[in-house]
Amino acid sequence: ADGIEVVNEGKLTTCTHLSYKPFQYEEGGEVVGFDVDLVDLVAKDLGVEQEIENTPFETITTGAAFNNEQCDVAAAGMTITDERAKVIDFADPYFKANQSVLAKGDSGIKSEADLAGKKLAAQTGTTGLQYAEEKIKDAEVITYEDLPLSLQAIQNGDVDAVINDNGVLYDFAKENTDYTVGFDIETGESYGIAVKKGNTELKERINEVLKTAKEDGRYAEIYKKWFNT
Ligand code: GLN
Repeated sequence: ADGIEVVNEGKLTTCTHLSYKPFQYEEGGEVVGFDVDLVDLVAKDLGVEQEIENTPFETITTGAAFNNEQCDVAAAGMTITDERAKVIDFADPYFKANQSVLAKGDSGIKSEADLAGKKLAAQTGTTGLQYAEEKIKDAEVITYEDLPLSLQAIQNGDVDAVINDNGVLYDFAKENTDYTVGFDIETGESYGIAVKKGNTELKERINEVLKTAKEDGRYAEIYKKWFNT
């Protein structure tokens, strides 16, 4: 693809972990979302179509998805961390995130202290789970494989609260008005699109596309489309 080697001829193959609305989720048989639109800009720049592969989140963060030639890039609302950066390479940050805690509107859960003795859903392999395990010692942390299962758990009454990134939980609370973000936790995270360790050529191409998109208004347009601000 335009001088860049890809795993599937004529395509830019993206690994992601569904669903993570509004970053990537299925709608009308198609995967759509903020990350999808952003990587589409990269695909367009390379003159190819983006193809999306759903894979467990930890297959991405451990680098396995790249090492077994499953994909060229990964975009999964994924936080850039030092640990992950040892095994995959991140392009420049494209989105700022913090953690949030979602609960029933009438639950009275408004701070970390309110989680004492409560069941807290967290997602396998995520920064939210890591925070919960390290910092929210008085809660009973229960892990779920993906975001929809965590949200299902609170809807079923299996847990009292859900910890995950602010973007996805505010999005859920907007459409499910019985639920609210009880409080935010300022973790100061940044999302990054990842490539295989050492794929500097593709990483630099992504950085160029991100930079141009921020300058020419396309990034702002995509942001507005998904976050309506
Ligand atoms: N940003 C969080 C992380 O990187 C969650 C990402 C996700 O669940 N897709 O761990």
